[in-house]
Amino acid sequence: MSPRRNSPRRRNGQSRPPGGDDEVFQRITGAERRETGPDGEWAVRRISGSAATKTYRCPGCYQEIPPAVPHVVAWRPFGGGDDRRHWHSSCWEHRTSRGVRFPRR
Ligand SMILES: [Zn+2]
Repeated sequence: MSPRRNSPRRRNGQSRPPGGDDEVFQRITGAERRETGPDGEWAVRRISGSAATKTYRCPGCYQEIPPAVPHVVAWRPFGGGDDRRHWHSSCWEHRTSRGVRFPRR
């Protein structure tokens, strides 16, 4: 058995953006991809069930997405991510074919 060197490293000087939560988010969800639909361009990420820890409201069907359910996150790529929305996977895919643009009553 070769002895492992376990030298503790200080990560003091590492510059970290203030959005630490976002960093975790990106690591969990992996790379985003771009989708362009009739309603414009979106950045899209797939959230795995283990990464989904909150309840979200799907803008496609206005039902809740419970925790641990794989789903889709989409936001405007130019908006800084503030308009990030969580969708059911099926709702996101049917979004354009349904022509969902604005909330309908
Ligand atoms: Zn939905």
